[in-house]
Amino acid sequence: MKEILTAGRYYRKKFGCNVYKVPISILGFTCPNIDGTVAKGGCTFCENESFSPNLTQKAPKKFYLNPNSIENPQLENQLLQLESQFKYTKKRLAKKFGAKKFIVYFQSFSNTYAPLETLKALYEKALSFDDVVGLSIGTRTDSITDEILDYLKELSSDKEIWVEYGIQSVYDQTLDAINRGHSVANMFEWIKKTKDRELKVCGHLIYGLPNETQEMMLDSVTASINLKIDSLKLHSMYITKNTIMANEYKLGKIKTISQELYIDTVVKTIKMLPKDIMIQRVCAGINDDSLLAPLWCRDKHSQMKQIKEVLKKEGLLY
Ligand code: SF4
Repeated sequence: MKEILTAGRYYRKKFGCNVYKVPISILGFTCPNIDGTVAKGGCTFCENESFSPNLTQKAPKKFYLNPNSIENPQLENQLLQLESQFKYTKKRLAKKFGAKKFIVYFQSFSNTYAPLETLKALYEKALSFDDVVGLSIGTRTDSITDEILDYLKELSSDKEIWVEYGIQSVYDQTLDAINRGHSVANMFEWIKKTKDRELKVCGHLIYGLPNETQEMMLDSVTASINLKIDSLKLHSMYITKNTIMANEYKLGKIKTISQELYIDTVVKTIKMLPKDIMIQRVCAGINDDSLLAPLWCRDKHSQMKQIKEVLKKEGLLY
């Protein structure tokens, strides 16, 4: 049986133990697709709280950062928030799993969409916490700069630094359909610039986006491999209530992917990947009332079980 390079195997080999990601959500961060810089309303599937279990504090009204913000009067609060979220989750993970090492995961919104001084303060604070081996920074390819990449390159000399980009699809027609607000060309340009600095890139792909065939989904995998990304995260398109996509779905304008097609696409993806590309996630489970469709996305455990079974028949151990 051939072992797939999962995040668990990657980190155990590199650090000698499991490394746990601690998701962080910082007040005042937004994204250019929400604040009107490139588009309004955000990606059609975006209901940000669904990605941000730690988002318990709302930003004070009208306080949102962008890269041109001259002042950041909330920096002290942001640093305190970072520390309290990290400590809380670290304690929970240590108790539940005996976790000893951590990656601070800046997850919500676009975590490079702020003045560089703010980013430096937050990232360096995160790296100063005990038992933190690195950072994972979720962002968009239109929200990064050469200056930020140069700075991350410096940090990566002795820390594990990951840049997580939402790729979603390598078809412009699909990015337009989900109101992504940037082009495939922009994505290729900035992933290449990130890789040119030898930073680690994790790409997110969504299967089942409007009007995508399996061939198109797998084209996104091929393009990601050609871009030399280091890791992939996969999940199916799922629709949560209170999103633009929910309205489109209710009006019959879009359909969701079947579980069979999703699993088949995941398995085909894994078979395509070179052995050094790490897989960080192969499904998502939305086990609460926010999920509108498809309902099979509710049960992550069942999805994992089925994916593992099919992979096993292919001689692959997840
Ligand atoms: S890039 Fe992320 S935060 Fe911004 S609109 Fe899309 S899903 Fe939401």
